[in-house]
Amino acid sequence: RRQDVAFPPVLDQNEAILANSFDNASLETWSYYYTHGLHIAGTNMTMAQWTADRWNEFGFMAGLASYYTYLNYPVSHSLSVSFANGSTWSASLQEEPLVEDEVTTYPNSVPTFHGYSFSGNATAEYVYVGRGQQVDFERVKALGVSLEGKIALARYGGPFRGLKVKNAQENGMIGAVIFTDTADDANITEANGYAAYPYGPARNPTSVQRGSVQYLSTYPGDPTTPGYPSRFDSPRTDTSDVTPRIPSLPISWKDAQPLLQALDGYGPSGETVNRTNWVGKLNATYSTGPAPGTAISLSNVMRDDITWIWDAIGIINGTHEDEVVVVGNHRDAWIIGGAADPNSGSAVMIELAKAFGALLKTGWKPRRTIVLCSWDSEEYGLLGSTEWVEDYIPWLTTAAVTYLNVDVATSGPNPELSASPEIHEIATEMMKKVVYPYRGYNNLTLYDVWYSLTEGEIGVLGSGSDYTAFLHNGISSLDIGAGGGPTDPVYHYHSNYDTFHWMSTFGDPGFVTHKAIGQYLTLLTYHVATDPIIPFKVENYGVQMTLYLEDLAEDVASANATVDLSPLESAVTSFNTSAAALTQLIGSASTEEEIGLVNAKLRDFSRGFVSQGGLPTREFYKHVVFAPGLDTGYAPTTWPGVTEAVEAGNLTLANTWVQKSARAVEVAAAILAP
Ligand code: GLU
Ligand code: CA
Ligand code: ZN
Ligand code: ZN
Repeated sequence: RRQDVAFPPVLDQNEAILANSFDNASLETWSYYYTHGLHIAGTNMTMAQWTADRWNEFGFMAGLASYYTYLNYPVSHSLSVSFANGSTWSASLQEEPLVEDEVTTYPNSVPTFHGYSFSGNATAEYVYVGRGQQVDFERVKALGVSLEGKIALARYGGPFRGLKVKNAQENGMIGAVIFTDTADDANITEANGYAAYPYGPARNPTSVQRGSVQYLSTYPGDPTTPGYPSRFDSPRTDTSDVTPRIPSLPISWKDAQPLLQALDGYGPSGETVNRTNWVGKLNATYSTGPAPGTAISLSNVMRDDITWIWDAIGIINGTHEDEVVVVGNHRDAWIIGGAADPNSGSAVMIELAKAFGALLKTGWKPRRTIVLCSWDSEEYGLLGSTEWVEDYIPWLTTAAVTYLNVDVATSGPNPELSASPEIHEIATEMMKKVVYPYRGYNNLTLYDVWYSLTEGEIGVLGSGSDYTAFLHNGISSLDIGAGGGPTDPVYHYHSNYDTFHWMSTFGDPGFVTHKAIGQYLTLLTYHVATDPIIPFKVENYGVQMTLYLEDLAEDVASANATVDLSPLESAVTSFNTSAAALTQLIGSASTEEEIGLVNAKLRDFSRGFVSQGGLPTREFYKHVVFAPGLDTGYAPTTWPGVTEAVEAGNLTLANTWVQKSARAVEVAAAILAP
């Protein structure tokens, strides 16, 4: 335990009311509810209404916000292989139903498919392309393997799956098959002697990762309404630049192994390719292929729909309605369960509302308005949150103080936190207020556990969950959750086996991590909504920007490029000056007027980081300091305009983006300056 942290944590009266309201048994009840109904995007208005009803009961004013969006749903699919010797083999494309896991035997259990995938057939020889990043394709081509007209066999993990399909398509390939490799299950594998789910913690061999294949790096939200809300009568744009034009299917490791084995001995072997994460743990050499005469035949039929999705929104008005704190989690899941993704978060959000309800009963009222959001259709591409932000953008850019996101509250015991810099300090302080039951220890705070795992480093936000639309409109954001480490039970991400049974048996028995993450989010919400002065440390933005600038200078040096970074350096210096002056002002603010002025600056300064027109080739991504990587989708890039131009060797663009980014930082500094 860390010596500087009190144990048990010291809570004031309101904090204690909030934290003590959390109850493992009721979290389990909410989890049970959410994990026993179909809730793919656009299919379950009742669950949205149920969420709003609970929030209403606890004293929030709650209702639904609906958007009319483009989605597609699976109709049928198949995948078979014909070998050179004339024999054939068909993939099962099914996750075995389990009696232990009653929802996997439901008649409406969801097929294995890719959201926004392309309807079509493809028959061709195939090539293993590793994780399917651009560098993987470059490497394979450099080794003399031709990709044109072939089908890609790619491994899950690393970049967002939609980018794997995009890269395959851009290399002239006509279909993509993406498989789960047990190498990504660390030590907990059947090969290491662990029984597979439901009998043990290893991966069920038939588990399949569903998921969206839209091109996350272009823009999130309904692909037919970029930048504006999807209403019944909204104009719609063509989606052919942002969703694939080749069919794709996800498969299990059990279905993948024979496909990989058929390539053994053809094309460069895995060792020759020599790319990180190229060779997995299945029984094959991970040769690229193609194997002459061995062809995949795949078919994918999807049904297009323009249909309603439902966000539940719950509000407690603060005494200062021009200061708003938004807390959100998505509710849609690919499968009936979704016990970790997202319903561990959804259960937490109900319990959080219950805790604030307990505080409301004492006559308490927050200073700032608190808005709870249960998003629909996150899974297809952050639709529910993005459409809502697009709908309320004038209000949000005027009033939003921060957006706090929880998606997977827990798929294991290790806490994970990412956030924009100004909220780091309060986010860290609140960890010290939460008891965190961890691997049999009962005398640790969340801070102790998190610090020992991360050395106190808070992650940088990229994309992959609902904070994206907020962050890129200049709203401070944070994402909290917990996941498994290398020795924890394997989490069946986007699989039928992400069930209540898995969660209560393996993922979070006793719902103890649910409780701790929920208490954390609640106490953090309480402070950002209640402290007279918004608890942001703006100096830390300067500290982090300087670190990112050092990384950028290294990138520039290692690219042997000449880019003058001094405009950015001086902009960060101005920012630091403004931040220091504001901190002084905060120290002396005492009248309501002075406090209001300081709060307005704390609330508004990060709008300055937004560049009008957005990053080159992606107008939606407007923050000049952070963006999801162009070829990662999830993992972040800092100073993205400059960094990506340097990577692309376009120094004119890099210099332009130094200027643009510097100007944005100067605007943030000017808003902050007293
Ligand atoms: N979180 C979802 C996923 O990773 C959706 C991400 C997105 O489409 O932006 O598949
Ligand atoms: Ca839209
Ligand atoms: Zn999720
Ligand atoms: Zn998900």
